[in-house]
Amino acid sequence: MVERIKTLEIEALAALNRAKTLADVDSVQVRYLGRSGLLTELIKNLKNLPPEEKPNFGKVLNETKVKLEAAVKEKKQLFQERNTEQKLKAEIIDITLPGEGVKRGKLHPITSTMEELVGIFSRMGFSIAEGPDIETDYYNFEALNIPKFHPSRDMWSTLWITEDTLLRTHTSPVQIRVMEKKKPPLAVIAPGRVYRRDADVTHSTVFHQLEGLLVDTDVTFGDLKGTLTAFLHAVFGKDKKVRFRPSYFPFTEPSAEVDVECVMCGGSGCRVCSGTGWLEILGSGMVDPNVFKHVNYDPEKYTGFAFGLGVERIAMLKYGIDDIRLFFENDLRFLRQF
Ligand SMILES: [Zn+2]
Repeated sequence: MVERIKTLEIEALAALNRAKTLADVDSVQVRYLGRSGLLTELIKNLKNLPPEEKPNFGKVLNETKVKLEAAVKEKKQLFQERNTEQKLKAEIIDITLPGEGVKRGKLHPITSTMEELVGIFSRMGFSIAEGPDIETDYYNFEALNIPKFHPSRDMWSTLWITEDTLLRTHTSPVQIRVMEKKKPPLAVIAPGRVYRRDADVTHSTVFHQLEGLLVDTDVTFGDLKGTLTAFLHAVFGKDKKVRFRPSYFPFTEPSAEVDVECVMCGGSGCRVCSGTGWLEILGSGMVDPNVFKHVNYDPEKYTGFAFGLGVERIAMLKYGIDDIRLFFENDLRFLRQF
């Protein structure tokens, strides 16, 4: 009998030793110490033994039971600790790791340049006007004194949609749309996208223009010169020389190209200004009386001036960019520099 108890004890301890999980320990506990466990059965059987044997076996059984219970308890504790440790390890938060910063968005260089230019004219009292990207022949050409088959139409490499509709080649049609709705005095700028059949390092099929128009009684070429000089000084600096060169546009008469002293070389001549020391920035002129007739303004009563510029050109000069295509490739390595 004692031998049987000892064998049980050895078996139980060996099973505990082999246990790899808390569940293994539980099953050993049930097998030996459970309500109908092997050791429990022996204890239950004690009452059937002859009275003189009872104390001895009782003692041995009790010792074994205490020993096994202690062993089970110890093993359980070990596994519980190990589980907690693993859990902690799995849920570890390394507070020394650098945080994940929120990346800030930025304005596209064309957008910020456009906003800067619009801001300068807004402060001079110009209001903002907009027009559709898809235009009719009438607004894009006809009303701007560029009749059908007129050779000056060759100045714009037009993207036609139908015989009568096109993607606007300039923001000038907005002038007509504004004058149709409003009577002078008026001072508006029209920023927006324009489209042409050109594509190389300085021309893009889609680009941005800023158009300006001021109409009132007694507007002179002196007003045009003063306004555009102030604008160029605001963009490029007050120390920059500005010059007006006679030019031709169908919708203005007289017309002038406006140059600013080269911002790269300061006028001594470089690659950017093709050695001339000057940069062409604006096209401008006094509104042609024929344009006024299209919108029922009396050319005897009103005079005005108009101007237009390429936003990409200004952005390229401001940031020293020599390829217009970089603006439209959406390469983040390029865009992040602004
Ligand atoms: Zn230069």
